Amino acid sequence: MILVSDPREMQRLADDARRLGNEVAFVPTMGALHEGHCTLIRRARDHGDLVVTSVFVNPTQFGQGEDFTRYPRDLERDRRAAEVAGTDILFAPSEQSMYPPGYATFVDLERVTAVLEGRARPGHFRGVATVVAKLANIVRPHVMLLGQKDAQQVVVIRRLLEDLNTGVRTVIVPTVREEDGLAMSSRNSYLSADERAQAPVLFRALRAVEAAVAAGERSGDALRALMTSTITAAPLAAIDYISVADASTLEELPVLSEGRPVLVSMAVRFGTTRLIDNTSLTV
Ligand code: AMP
Repeated sequence: MILVSDPREMQRLADDARRLGNEVAFVPTMGALHEGHCTLIRRARDHGDLVVTSVFVNPTQFGQGEDFTRYPRDLERDRRAAEVAGTDILFAPSEQSMYPPGYATFVDLERVTAVLEGRARPGHFRGVATVVAKLANIVRPHVMLLGQKDAQQVVVIRRLLEDLNTGVRTVIVPTVREEDGLAMSSRNSYLSADERAQAPVLFRALRAVEAAVAAGERSGDALRALMTSTITAAPLAAIDYISVADASTLEELPVLSEGRPVLVSMAVRFGTTRLIDNTSLTV
């Protein structure tokens, strides 16, 4: 595995690979790599001859007062994990090289960014879309691997890649969880022992919704109420939002209808840590 920090050098290596007829598979991350990221990297090998993983804590997707400065950073550890998982090129650019003085271009998406994470974190998806568009131009992948863990991000990135005619395909990887159901996340490291013990309540709420739907429940409000009661049973949990929405438009659903994919999602705070989780289902 080689480590590349210069965007021009990354572009050159990707172009060389493409010229030789190699498929480039790309896994964008913010580092602090865990088994979720490593699963994406291993899957990338199934789709590409050259596997590129990026590590970049993107400042433009963090809002005022969010965790940009305390976000875990350990490039040496990430380097080992990325290599073991099968990365060929680890692209870790500096902030300066991605956003040099005079930088002025941002990518904004309408509609799909107005709800859920987009509403709770103004400007977040503008930063995500901007960095993903830049990374797509630098890495020139044929395929990008994304985690279902960030379901709205998947919707946003797919829209962006299509709208900007990038020709980049996406592969979505199911959420990788700890044994007790907690979705793996770099932010789990912020949790205190008590918070960590209660954090699987997000997963329990998703399982409760799945069980209720399997038993015939079709009311969006009833499912949202079930999630609320499940989550509030954990005294340290504070709900940011809960949602039962159409999986492609992200509009809240009053009733679930047959054949229409549903995204059940939530953001819950434990102290200063904000966790998200989701499941998708079709009745
Ligand atoms: P991040 O470093 O958090 O920006 O995540 C980089 C990529 O890894 C995104 O596509 C995430 O959706 C994905 N990812 C993060 N956590 C998980 C997980 N627990 N399971 C599957 N994919 C994940």
